Amino acid sequence: MSEASDSLMSTYARLPVTMVRGAGARAWDSEGREYLDALAGIAVCGLGHSHPAVADAVADQAHTLTHISNFYHIPQQQQLAERLTALTGHERAFFCNSGAEANEAALKIARRYGHERGIDEPAVIVCENAFHGRTLATLTATGNRKIQAGFEPLVQGFLRVPFGDLEALDRVAANRPNVVAVLVEPVQGEAGIRTAPDGYLAGVRDACDRHGWLMMCDEIQTGVGRTGEFLAQQGSEVAADVTTLAKALGNGVPIGACLARGVAAEVLGAGSHGTTFGGNPLACRAALAVLDTLEGDQLTARAAGLGAHMRTRFEQRLAGVEGVKEIRSRGLMFGIELDTDCGELMQRALDAGLLINVTAGNVVRLLPPLIISDDEAERIVEGVSALIREFLGRKSAA
Ligand code: PLP
Repeated sequence: MSEASDSLMSTYARLPVTMVRGAGARAWDSEGREYLDALAGIAVCGLGHSHPAVADAVADQAHTLTHISNFYHIPQQQQLAERLTALTGHERAFFCNSGAEANEAALKIARRYGHERGIDEPAVIVCENAFHGRTLATLTATGNRKIQAGFEPLVQGFLRVPFGDLEALDRVAANRPNVVAVLVEPVQGEAGIRTAPDGYLAGVRDACDRHGWLMMCDEIQTGVGRTGEFLAQQGSEVAADVTTLAKALGNGVPIGACLARGVAAEVLGAGSHGTTFGGNPLACRAALAVLDTLEGDQLTARAAGLGAHMRTRFEQRLAGVEGVKEIRSRGLMFGIELDTDCGELMQRALDAGLLINVTAGNVVRLLPPLIISDDEAERIVEGVSALIREFLGRKSAA
């Protein structure tokens, strides 16, 4: 079945294919056709599809206790919090079910932090072209009018600055005494894998320290090993006060986390925040299996090494191709910016047996699973480069 269904809200522009199975870096459609997955469910399936360690953990936990409620202690949740705090240098975790919810928790921490300091209308600084989610607060934090349009009135309490511009932070500080936090992505994924300029995150940290703001990093797309560090901020030797995770944490089992340290870890007390499903035994068990596998198979280091190799290969394969504006990457996040809109490449890739994404109109985005083999990586480089060359060749001939 590859027809649209009238029973679903038409929130997604779907490609005409129905996916039914996955294993490792491969997925199969309902006709039995095989695809090499260079997107991993948008940075979710870092361990690839149907990873046995996650499947076994989920099955075992489903047979034992799927859900119980945060009225009680949940050992898997406590273990996961301990593992994540040890991996990240944060002190406490709050668990939820998605990236947007993790950011909502961060924003609530920021507001409480402000109120505790006598700031009645706390404001959070966010960046141009940021993406933080689709709830009302997170779409307001998102720097993309298309995502906000039609959902006004937007939420109050956000100030926007250009991504990468440290002086803008001090200008805001000089005029707005009600700022309490900065929310920033180490790499802007949806915006087209836009990496912060060198020193930017350290500069944000410094500004937050000087002005008494919380530094909050949205690592929903960058986290859990993808950039070659467990958190991208660790690659910049920066420690945020609050970090949000989701996507790859459960390898497809929905789970989000808001991690905090220092004073930020103390502001949410009993009754101040919560969610029914958050941190249930099933999701936490899946996430524990993800962390075990990531560590056991040294996949974070693999993301760094293979990411650097693939980047070099892309640079070689696309060298001198007119219309390729820039190749950006961090670990296994790739953005290949073209000088023209290229959304149709998603369909063309599908026809060629490849799952890829185009974001921001003209950026081919690749977020392959961390478990891809050298051979699969090379097939992605060859396949995607050939598609881009052919697409740009046709454009310039037209
Ligand atoms: N923040 C970032 C950086 C993201 O990439 C995403 C999703 O793409 C989100 C937040 C929202 O996460 P979710 O779709 O799980 O709500």
